[in-house]
Amino acid sequence: MVQQRLLQTGGEPSNSEKRNEIWSKMWRMNVPAATKLFVWRAVSDLLPTRKNLWKKKIVEDPLCPICNLNEETISHVMWSCPATVDVWGDTRSPISKWPSGDCNFEQKWLDLCRVMNRESIEKVAVIMRGIWYRRNKYVFENKFWRPGNVVQMAVTGLEDYYSVNEKKTGLNKGKGEDRGESHWRCPVDVDFKVNFDGAFDQSSSKIGMGVVIRDKKGRLLLL
Ligand SMILES: [Zn+2]
Repeated sequence: MVQQRLLQTGGEPSNSEKRNEIWSKMWRMNVPAATKLFVWRAVSDLLPTRKNLWKKKIVEDPLCPICNLNEETISHVMWSCPATVDVWGDTRSPISKWPSGDCNFEQKWLDLCRVMNRESIEKVAVIMRGIWYRRNKYVFENKFWRPGNVVQMAVTGLEDYYSVNEKKTGLNKGKGEDRGESHWRCPVDVDFKVNFDGAFDQSSSKIGMGVVIRDKKGRLLLL
């Protein structure tokens, strides 16, 4: 397990710079789109935590439904709740030193992105989603997963995602190599050029075909 240490960051960037950095790092992560969206909602404090629901007068108290010790803010759910500390303390977690206590979660996420390598931060992202999933399972179904189960589900899911993506990349690469590198060129001595491609799906016995017609200046006439 890689020992991770949070570094103290220097001069504080403006809020918009911070947001831009968070956004660009987040969308470069190799994780399912739903996980990126989840992290964005968490970092932006848009999840329906008890504290947020209480502020909107939807629930009567803001206490964490799991530990009942503190208000359920986003940093409490993801960071300082005793139940969450147990998840991050799992041997397969990418973080072994996790400073407890409430924090500005947006800043904490940014700090993590700055000090962790890409694979580790992707693990953190899927585990965060797993923590929220477990929280909802407890709130709505009264079932509580062990910390190891949360990490196991998250890490296995991420590995599956990597392997499916690798296969897809391999297939696309293979297709490209079979066809060779080709670039469209304007027609010479004729007014139009027609390009077409087709595919046959053996399992459903369906054929798909696409046709593109351009004039000699490359202007699109038919797609
Ligand atoms: Zn709690």
